[in-house]
Amino acid sequence: MSRSPIEVHRSGRTGWLRAAVLGSDDAIVSTASLMLGVAASSASKAAILIAGVAGLASGAMSMAVGEYVSVSSQRDTEKADIDLEKRELSEQPQAELNELAMIYVKRGLDRELAMKVAEQLSARDRLNAHLRDELGIDASALSRPLQAAWTSAASFATFAMVPIAALLLTTARWRIPAIAAVSLASLAALGALGAHLGGAPLGRAALRVTLGGALAMAVTTAIGMAFGISGG
Ligand SMILES: [Zn+2]
Repeated sequence: MSRSPIEVHRSGRTGWLRAAVLGSDDAIVSTASLMLGVAASSASKAAILIAGVAGLASGAMSMAVGEYVSVSSQRDTEKADIDLEKRELSEQPQAELNELAMIYVKRGLDRELAMKVAEQLSARDRLNAHLRDELGIDASALSRPLQAAWTSAASFATFAMVPIAALLLTTARWRIPAIAAVSLASLAALGALGAHLGGAPLGRAALRVTLGGALAMAVTTAIGMAFGISGG
């Protein structure tokens, strides 16, 4: 393999990427499994469709709530850190300047240069220098709970459409294999895409997510069949 002159580092974007891929996998696996369970019980097309749409709605809303709660608490932590830093900067500016310089010393600068860097960065934007180098917070990119909630709900709803479309486009005879096949193929494609964007090996990621999805679908199909036979 040839090496490009500038290496592309990808670990920095795996956070939101992982969330997006996990959300889409979640949507396909849970909606398809739900619909297959209902379909295997010999329910009508309408009943399977209702299960699918209800699964889409409940999944999207629960993703939104979960994301909102988790990103909100992350944001609260960031805000508390920023407030504390502001207070420290106004109460003990000299100690804070030394602290900033020590951070640069630990990163390899000699004391004199570190103090110069700390002074110049502080002259430009003191709070931001501390947030960035001391706390690792980018003040221009704070967590956004509503945006995270909306994004994950939209992503879930979009991918839950995959098994629903498979139901709508096939006849009764091909319903179960079509829902399963289309969903598994989408999982494999998403697994490969996620791995590609994250710079990881493609085959393994696609295989893992596809096998996991197949297992989930097999379990709910078996449950549906059991209930269908018992005439529940
Ligand atoms: Zn500080």
